Amino acid sequence: MLATKGYAVMKAKNPLQPFSFERREVGPHDVLIKISHCGICHSDIHQALDEWGGSIFPMVPGHEIIGTVTQVGSAVKQFRVSDRAGVGCFVDSCRTCAACREGLEQYCETGMLLTYSGRDKNGQTTQGGYSTQIVVDEHYVLRIPATLSPAGAAPLLCAGITTYSPLRHWGVGKYHKLAVVGLGGLGHMAVKIATALGTEVTVFSTSEGKRKDAERLGATDFAVTSNPETFTTFHRHFDYILDTVSAPHDYNAYLNLLKTDGTMILVGAPDQPTPLAPFPLILNRRRIAGSVIGGIRETQELLDFCAKHEIESDVEVIPIHQVNEAYERVLKGDVRFRFVIDLNSLA
Ligand code: NAP
Ligand code: ZN
Ligand code: ZN
Repeated sequence: MLATKGYAVMKAKNPLQPFSFERREVGPHDVLIKISHCGICHSDIHQALDEWGGSIFPMVPGHEIIGTVTQVGSAVKQFRVSDRAGVGCFVDSCRTCAACREGLEQYCETGMLLTYSGRDKNGQTTQGGYSTQIVVDEHYVLRIPATLSPAGAAPLLCAGITTYSPLRHWGVGKYHKLAVVGLGGLGHMAVKIATALGTEVTVFSTSEGKRKDAERLGATDFAVTSNPETFTTFHRHFDYILDTVSAPHDYNAYLNLLKTDGTMILVGAPDQPTPLAPFPLILNRRRIAGSVIGGIRETQELLDFCAKHEIESDVEVIPIHQVNEAYERVLKGDVRFRFVIDLNSLA
């Protein structure tokens, strides 16, 4: 077993603390990755607080992992020692169901194996990227283009793919008007990616202070949600809405901003349900949909797309001992736009 250092939440709602644990030995199909950077996703916080239920403790969170390959198993074909590598939200799936065969492992019929807070086929709890190293089957490891910086690339592995996948699935592009609701980690990636796809983007935010950032990221318009006029100004204006908000809020007001046949896509995952009124949907044949992360093939496509379009996440890099403070700041919306942990601070 491989002795590994990390930071863990020992039980729900506790702060993170130093934690030592063991990774499995490198099997024939595995690569060992020395982790240099890991993003802090709001999903890490939901799960550390056990807001969704089902969290497994002790939990080493982190699913926006970037590092360098330091060892490969005897049957590994796609990676060599010293390659840059990335790991996202899952590290295995059944590989045989229709979804897996289509490259949609995130919709695996028996469930993807989460990078942390999952149980692998040997009954071992998976542990994530707030740690020095990780062992992953090469089929679930991404190649990181050389032009991307490690810290700026880390959030692409969750925030990036979670916004890219629905935009591609629904064919959002030129000639479409898109609203991005919530300008956090996911939201800022959505603005950059949709802009690169040629889409006209309006940001809906609770924070007036993010107006300039929205413009800098590529949005053509910005609306503050506390202003009631916002919801009349943009009535029946959008083809698509991508909702990235982490807390419960009223979806119905946004549905009225869609044109006929418009689609509102939920990626934000609040822990509480929100009532849905039928009329905004019925009257204009509108749709509400959801999407979770993206498959391995599509994540690689996104990484290559970001390299081509020179897109990285806007990050604030922190040493691991500031992780609890970073969680507090994410909950207050006080981050531009993703915290990334420098794991060298743990070595
Ligand atoms: P984040 O950085 O905290 O961003 C969330 C944003 O939501 C905030 O920046 C804020 O934007 C807005 N917001 C927060 N509280 C709000 C409230 N009470 N009312 C209205 N707006 C509020 O979080 P993130 O990492 O981007 O994640 C966002 C959500 O997506 C989380 O629920 C996360 O679990 C989920 N997620 C889903 C997937 C998936 O596969 N579907 C993947 C990753 C994450 P403004 O300041 O602009 O208002
Ligand atoms: Zn995430
Ligand atoms: Zn499957």
